[in-house]
Amino acid sequence: MTIRDQREEDRSSLCEAAVAAFRLVDQVAEAVVQLANSSGEHHIACHRGCRTCCTVFVTATHAEAFAIAASLLAPARGERLRRFREQMALWHAAVGPEVALLERLATEYESLPPAEPDSRLLAEAAQTYRQRRLMCPFNATDGSCEIYPVRPVGCRAFYVADTSEYCSLEATQEAVIVRHAKLTEITALARRVLRGVSATAGHDTVSALPAGVERALSVMEGVPR
Ligand code: SF4
Repeated sequence: MTIRDQREEDRSSLCEAAVAAFRLVDQVAEAVVQLANSSGEHHIACHRGCRTCCTVFVTATHAEAFAIAASLLAPARGERLRRFREQMALWHAAVGPEVALLERLATEYESLPPAEPDSRLLAEAAQTYRQRRLMCPFNATDGSCEIYPVRPVGCRAFYVADTSEYCSLEATQEAVIVRHAKLTEITALARRVLRGVSATAGHDTVSALPAGVERALSVMEGVPR
């Protein structure tokens, strides 16, 4: 086997691990959504085209980034890849130093930093990012997610109950986030596994979703960075 074959095999293992993790999280998420809807107490407000939460900072492990890059490089996805590149130029022009800080904290902590000053730094940097009101480069003009089947674990981790009216920055009250111990547990597990397989392939850091996918695309296309 040549080095090139080996690398391609590594990438394909990363993509497979990511897809398996997405499937696992989805199975639990579907059960949680059904439970919430059937209890009669709440109904899930999230729906196709509702993109209010797509301005938050989302991370990706290398495994997730490779899975998304592979999907964008599929021959039928040429138009999506072109749009992503167009959106990335705007993303790079608009973001600031908070991205590097958020990436460092995401890499350092499995979930939220447990104490000051990092917990405060994370909250401030995430707020700064959100205040830029940058729509995720994968969000289409109709509000739908262009990479829905391979969106990262972070985009599968929570749901909003009853109404999305309180998801925006201008909202006067907090959105009702549906939390379930099993969903929290499975998303944490999926993240740990994806960090592990990414580290085994030599990529121990966590990236901002768009930047991670951009880097994965460069690697897959053989462009030196
Ligand atoms: S990947 Fe999709 S769901 Fe996640 S923030 Fe981007 S557009 Fe929204």
